[in-house]
Amino acid sequence: MNDTQLFPLLKTHFGFDRFLPLQEEIVRHVLTGRDAMVLMPTGGGKSLCYQFPALIFDGITLVVSPLIALMKDQVDSLTANGIAAVVINSSVKSDEIGRIRESLRRGEVKLLYVAPERLALEGFRKFLLGLTISCIAVDEAHCISQWGHDFRPEYLNLKNLRTDFPSVGVVALTATATPRVRKDIVEHLHLNNPRIFLSSFNRPNLHYDIRPKDGAFDQMLDLLRLPQHKGRSVIVYCYSRKETEDLAGKLCAKGFSAEAYHAGLDAQARHDIQDRFIKDETPIITATIAFGMGIDKPDVRLVVHYALPSSIEGYYQETGRAGRDGLPAACVLFYSYADKFKQEYFIEKIEDDAERKRATEKLNRIVAFCESAVCRRKFLLEYFGERREQETCGACDRCVSTGDEFDADEIGSMVLECVQKTGERFGAQYIVDILRGAVNERITRNRHDRLPVYSAGRLFTDPQLREIIGALIGKRLLVRTGTEYPIIEFTALGRTFLEGGERLMLPILRSAPAGKAKKPSVQYEDKKKNPSLHPEARAKKPSLYPDTGGVVNERLFEELRALRKQLADTRGVPPFVIFADTSLREMARCLPQDEKSFLAITGVGELKLKRFGPVFMKTISEVKSKLRL
Ligand code: ADP
Ligand code: ZN
Repeated sequence: MNDTQLFPLLKTHFGFDRFLPLQEEIVRHVLTGRDAMVLMPTGGGKSLCYQFPALIFDGITLVVSPLIALMKDQVDSLTANGIAAVVINSSVKSDEIGRIRESLRRGEVKLLYVAPERLALEGFRKFLLGLTISCIAVDEAHCISQWGHDFRPEYLNLKNLRTDFPSVGVVALTATATPRVRKDIVEHLHLNNPRIFLSSFNRPNLHYDIRPKDGAFDQMLDLLRLPQHKGRSVIVYCYSRKETEDLAGKLCAKGFSAEAYHAGLDAQARHDIQDRFIKDETPIITATIAFGMGIDKPDVRLVVHYALPSSIEGYYQETGRAGRDGLPAACVLFYSYADKFKQEYFIEKIEDDAERKRATEKLNRIVAFCESAVCRRKFLLEYFGERREQETCGACDRCVSTGDEFDADEIGSMVLECVQKTGERFGAQYIVDILRGAVNERITRNRHDRLPVYSAGRLFTDPQLREIIGALIGKRLLVRTGTEYPIIEFTALGRTFLEGGERLMLPILRSAPAGKAKKPSVQYEDKKKNPSLHPEARAKKPSLYPDTGGVVNERLFEELRALRKQLADTRGVPPFVIFADTSLREMARCLPQDEKSFLAITGVGELKLKRFGPVFMKTISEVKSKLRL
């Protein structure tokens, strides 16, 4: 198929002018009928990779998807774009299933979504065999692997597909890219020499921000009040069920609309909360990690980790739920070392040795991530095995720091000396304990209370000292080694530095300084020497996530959102099925007033132009004259 045929279809049915990275190659490959495995991050645009070929194939594209709510949203979205799609799962009534089967037999349907359980039913398998199936898409394919984070035994039924349809191309899609999971997918689905499409796992529109957890609630209120987050969808991940409820209560008391979500609620309550979130009725959800899987809401603008996640994988997945639509979104994690202990408490109870060790290692890695001074994005991508040349990304707290540094010569040298004098054998907390002059058995036993640096850093708080160690690692003077028991060692550069005595500058500390009671002593009397002690230093946060959407009229955008909500409610679908935020923002910028310019908006295809063009253009024109745009 040549371009002249591909692109018009993309615009007519999906409203897009171009493909996202890899989409076109994947579509072309799938159209050849060969197997493929697609590894793309959330928001990468996986669905289009099988929905688009489905338009062109003569027969039906069978889509296996694990979650009922997700299937429904996808079918609603396709229908809104004028693509014939149906779903068969346990939520569909039997007389309805009868009708759906009829339309499938008559060849009126392009995409059939089914739950994996169905494929175990003999009757259903026979029914499928009577249809013309052109392609099989397995969404969330990692669910087939016990090594993934979301193993679903029902997925093992998918083995039947290869037996039943030996010559139909299978495309497996997932956002989990670990080699082990990849291998399982290929093996269990019996993929036949599949072409593997691995896209970058970078999420350029996400802004990563890891902040010291002090005054976290007030910091969160500030975040929620920012114009780009106010009234928008936000997920706050908490440590415990109790914390989700406490936080939701506190947020409501402050006038926000928030609900708590956790596995302790019954299925109906969970479903309703999720539904209100998807329908833009409850903007803020405080949740345990039970929340999120199966939520394809494209316009989540902020994901807060109110507590330390238990692994980098978890963090990446949870933050991944922000900004699927590609518009700027923020991920803020409140970090405190104390949260690590909470997690350790549970890890210690794990009986299986190997599993406990794995959990400990994962926890240590996320701690290292939080304390690292290198670009967050670089750290994350390298963790997932992706090489990244750029040292800075310009969109994380490490890269968008104010750039201000303070003269850390004194405290920095103390830390380095402490690491040196204790023989490079200890972890960060132990170094901090010595510098703070902690009285504990281990320090006494090692006679480290006799070191000159013992208690020399007492004017700094624990989090500040940990931050300084992180910054020294960032400057590549120190390095963290060991996984189960991480220790701090010198790098070659660090050793040279010790000898050379260059001036040491470090980024201004973001952790709160010690309370007022502790007056700086003579040593730190000159506040300029430690600007982190200045309250202004803390207040001076980099401005957050500028909206790159150009000049969008926010009032108009709000009006268009309201119209979208109203249309969605009358149709009983989530608002994003009508239009994504990307489309609304473009409308609020370009103010289309005729069919041609309305069709030029991203996400507007033929059917949406016909169905929604007139009402949206009417609202635009009204607001335009009201605001004299
Ligand atoms: P994934 O399943 O990989 O998380 P989706 O298929 O849900 O991603 O797509 C993410 C978002 O990107 C959706 O809002 C979708 O409408 C949008 N999208 C997909 N393909 C394109 C494209 N070619 N141009 C613009 N937006 C796209
Ligand atoms: Zn960065």
